[in-house]
Amino acid sequence: MSNLAVTPEFDSSIPEFSESILLEPRSVKLTPRSGVTIERTLPHRELRTIGAWCFVDHFGPTNQANAMSVAAHPHTGLQTVTWLFSGLVEHRDSIGSIQEIQPGQLNIMTAGYGISHSELSIDQNIALHGIQLWVVLPDSAREMKPKFEHYSDLPTLKTDLVTGKVFVGQFNNVSAITKTYSPLVGVEIYFDKSGKQNFELNPEFEYGVLAVSGEIVVQGKQVPQGSMLFLKPGDLNLSLASTALSRAVLIGGEPFTEPIIMWWNFIGRSHDEIAQMRTDWESGADRFGSFKDRIGSRIPAPQMPSLKLTPRSGKPKSG
Ligand code: MN
Repeated sequence: MSNLAVTPEFDSSIPEFSESILLEPRSVKLTPRSGVTIERTLPHRELRTIGAWCFVDHFGPTNQANAMSVAAHPHTGLQTVTWLFSGLVEHRDSIGSIQEIQPGQLNIMTAGYGISHSELSIDQNIALHGIQLWVVLPDSAREMKPKFEHYSDLPTLKTDLVTGKVFVGQFNNVSAITKTYSPLVGVEIYFDKSGKQNFELNPEFEYGVLAVSGEIVVQGKQVPQGSMLFLKPGDLNLSLASTALSRAVLIGGEPFTEPIIMWWNFIGRSHDEIAQMRTDWESGADRFGSFKDRIGSRIPAPQMPSLKLTPRSGKPKSG
């Protein structure tokens, strides 16, 4: 018998990417019973990662009480990146961090081998509006000790039309010192005036532009509010047009090619690894530590699927 399996790179059934893909969000509840509805644009059935960005959740604006009350839960193999446009959120974790985050500041938690945390919106008088992004750690960094960093002084992006913050990487000759483990960029862009702005892009990077509010036009294409336009590598120039008081977030990075398994709050490389992470959380193993918070409960892991989880590359989609 010969092996008839075809390796993905030679599988001609995989379609070529078009110039750009519009990623429409799907709505998910943050917690089963309460909490704000999240608009998730990544992972998407068309695309699993943009650079090493593997998860994009957009929430609010909402004045709903307890909009964000996410009890203790674990993570592995990824970084969580929290960025607010308005509101106030308290982060606590199993390595002893207690940190409030405000708009324009960055919380970045590197789960590495394992950490647990909780997130609570703590000022009901200010609308909660923000994003949470995840970054998959490359194999070389995913077993590292967990750490948490808070950045309150990130560099400002300023042109005649826009103001913004570079929260990860380098953009328009502005660099953030935020530590990531693969080449990435993350920028909030706010239009003070209406008009069109051009920015230089890294042709090695792929990008996503999330239309947070207002009218956002990327490379001449209208991006509906809440959606994200994906741009494949090769573009040297970003054309961003908008009306005044509109907001976008640009993320990007070198295409991430390691096959991964994303299951619940874990990222691993094999079914057995994921099963062990789940067992460690359910049994209260040292791996995920413990901490006290004002929520006072922990989120149980879902059942493992009956089918064996198999690692998949972020791209291209396999149909
Ligand atoms: Mn989390």
